[in-house]
Amino acid sequence: MKTTIASLSREIITEADAYLYLENMRWHGEAKCPKCASTDVHYVEPTNGVSRTTAGGSQSERRVWRCTPCRKQFSVLTGTIMHATKISVRTSVMVIFEMCASKNGVAAREIERKYGLCPRTAWHMLHRIREAMSHDDYVLFSGDVSVDEVYIGGNPELRHANDPREVGIGRGTKKTPVVSVIDADTHQIRSHVVLSVDSKSLGDVIRVNVDTATTTLHTDLFPAYLSVGRTMAGHYRVNHKAGVYATDKTNGTNLCENYFAQLKRGLKGTHIHVDPKHLHRYLNEFDYRYSTFELTDAERMADLGTRLAGRLSYTEVTA
Ligand SMILES: [Zn+2]
Repeated sequence: MKTTIASLSREIITEADAYLYLENMRWHGEAKCPKCASTDVHYVEPTNGVSRTTAGGSQSERRVWRCTPCRKQFSVLTGTIMHATKISVRTSVMVIFEMCASKNGVAAREIERKYGLCPRTAWHMLHRIREAMSHDDYVLFSGDVSVDEVYIGGNPELRHANDPREVGIGRGTKKTPVVSVIDADTHQIRSHVVLSVDSKSLGDVIRVNVDTATTTLHTDLFPAYLSVGRTMAGHYRVNHKAGVYATDKTNGTNLCENYFAQLKRGLKGTHIHVDPKHLHRYLNEFDYRYSTFELTDAERMADLGTRLAGRLSYTEVTA
C-alpha cells in the first residue's frame, strides 16, 4: 500500500503507535542502546500496561527500553533530532513525512497552522529535520561531474535604502551565491553557500566533493573554473552566450540548471524569504530530495529514519 498522510494517520493513532513506528524505521526490529550500542536490551512494560508517570506527574505513552550491560534507560528518540522536543511524536512523524513527500518544501507557517504548533516550535522542528537531511559523508564523486553557481535572494525593496543590512553577503539587495556539484551518473548533489565566486572558493568546493584525479568537470565558460579544471582528469566547457548548452562530449551544466529551477521555485513559492544565514539548511533539504529522486516517499522516509541521530539545539540554529 502506498504511504500517504491518510494512511499514516490510520496507522498511527496513539503516541505509543508513533514510538513503535519510529522504532521500526530506525531499528528495523532490533533495538540498540544509544550509549554502548549493545543489542542486549529489553522493553520496559509500563506497570498499568498503557502509560507511565513522568517526573512532572503526567501520563506518558513513551516506549522505554533498558540496556542490560550499561543499564541505561532510553527510547527511540534518545540522541535523535527529536530528543527533548515538546511536540508529540505522532506530529513529528507526520511532519517528517510531509518533508519527504513535498517537492517544493514545506513552509513553517503551514505546519504551524495544520498541527496547531507555535511558530517558533514549527520553524525549529523543520530545521532539525533539514539537519537530518544534510550530507554527512564525504564520499568523493568521480567520473562526470557538473558544477554551476546560482544567486539566491536579495531584497529589491532595499535597493535605494541606506540600510545596514546592505552590508555583507546576501544582505539587503545582495544575492547569496550558491555552488552546486552534481555527479552526472548517480545524480547525487551537494550545494554550498560561498562567500564569493572566485577561483579559490569555487575550487575549494569542488575539491571537497570530487576525486580530482578521476573526475571530468563540466562547466560553463566562467573563468573562475579554469584553474581547478586544470587539476582534474578533464574539463569540458559550454558557451552559453553562443547558445551552446551541450555537445557530443558534454551535457554542460544542464543538470545544475534543472536543479536551480526547482530550488528557486521552492524557495520563492514556499519559503518566500530565506535568511542567508539559514540558506545552507534549505539547501540540505533540496539536495536531499534531489539526491533521493529514485526513492518513493515511503522509502525516502525510511532512509531519513536512519539519519535521525544527532540533534540541533535552538541555540545552535539561531547562533
Ligand atoms: Zn548500553
